[in-house]
Amino acid sequence: MLLIKNGRVLDPASKTDAVRDILIDGETISEIAAPGKISRANDAEVFDATGLVVAPGFIDMHVHLREPGQENSETIETGTKAAARGGFTAVCCMPNTRPVNDNASITRFIVDRAKVHGHVRVWPIGAASVGSKGEDISEIAAMRDAGIVAVSDDGKPIATAILARQIMDYCRSLDLPVIEHAEDVSLAAGAVMREGIASTRLGLSGMPAAAESVCVARDVQLAELTDARLHIAHLSAKASLEQVRFAKKQGLRVTCEVTPHHFTLIDEDVTYDSRFKMNPPLAAREDREALLTGLADGTVDAIATDHAPHEPAIKDVEFDKAPFGILGFETAIGLALEELVHTNRIPLMRMVELFTTGPARVLGKDRKLTPGEPADVTIFSYDRPWTYRVKESSSKSRNSPFDGRNFKGGPAATIVAGRLVHRA
Ligand SMILES: [Zn+2]
Repeated sequence: MLLIKNGRVLDPASKTDAVRDILIDGETISEIAAPGKISRANDAEVFDATGLVVAPGFIDMHVHLREPGQENSETIETGTKAAARGGFTAVCCMPNTRPVNDNASITRFIVDRAKVHGHVRVWPIGAASVGSKGEDISEIAAMRDAGIVAVSDDGKPIATAILARQIMDYCRSLDLPVIEHAEDVSLAAGAVMREGIASTRLGLSGMPAAAESVCVARDVQLAELTDARLHIAHLSAKASLEQVRFAKKQGLRVTCEVTPHHFTLIDEDVTYDSRFKMNPPLAAREDREALLTGLADGTVDAIATDHAPHEPAIKDVEFDKAPFGILGFETAIGLALEELVHTNRIPLMRMVELFTTGPARVLGKDRKLTPGEPADVTIFSYDRPWTYRVKESSSKSRNSPFDGRNFKGGPAATIVAGRLVHRA
């Protein structure tokens, strides 16, 4: 048994914000009560959470664990260790591994591997099309039976409108969300950052915001046509957010996520340092302002990191040649507190929602601190100062633009199925 004592329990599902003790028995939450009121906790191991926030287990619904195929950059073991260190209890891994997770045997490989080597829960996402090549629909039902929670061709968009329609139609019948990496590849061709004054100044090739929002518009209309559950991944542009807001007003089942780097940085922060290269690229100041509004007003459903490790040999090269993507797990809570909560843009409860009930709802799952529920708990500090040092990361890779950044508040402990998998 584990007793989490005296923490400030924040649970969006029950709207609880109070100091409580939580008793965990085995893999489940056994009792929640006012401090000192749990009588049968005498022989339990005690975690003193005085001064800390105790929340339902955080979910990162967009991550790359690189296994199978690119184990020099990350493995299920190292990736989930970094996730635990970042306060996440469950992660959804994208299918763009080598081979691509487009059939049940790869899905089972990931699920089995995660059972043995994973530090947190791993919920795979299956490829929407075979090999994510955008030609034929993949074996979605078989992958669903093997454990996928959604489909996506992430890394690229679902190639054509007709295929997107078929996939949405099919996934509606299975009640699975379709996650779109929204990008018009013709508008984005050859680009390495966002098009604008910053790209002109740096002499780097840019893609316009429309490269994303054109695809979002296509998909929103197809979601209306098919009544599918559509989720827009790593939404970065104001015009895309407006499409999602419009879709929600129409009652469509359209949701979206935003990454910490897109609500923190903008295109003017880009230098020739490839740690500032990601896709979608860092956007304009007005896009970031729109995302901050969407995070506050409920248009954005989830914060997801798009944790995208790349080993130094391939990432530490010229900006033009480097692959897209940065690490995300270990800085997510710190950035959310810094950019969203300490600035009074959103209440702490809303931040917790964006990491818990928000993504859970998109995935059709529950997330709450209630007796009888699985004991997945994220404990974090609201104001403890600390510095992120990427060389201490649990990830195999080092590609973070936030190395050396000072934070106020961050992960303190992570509990998965009653087990303390990380303690700061
Ligand atoms: Zn993507």
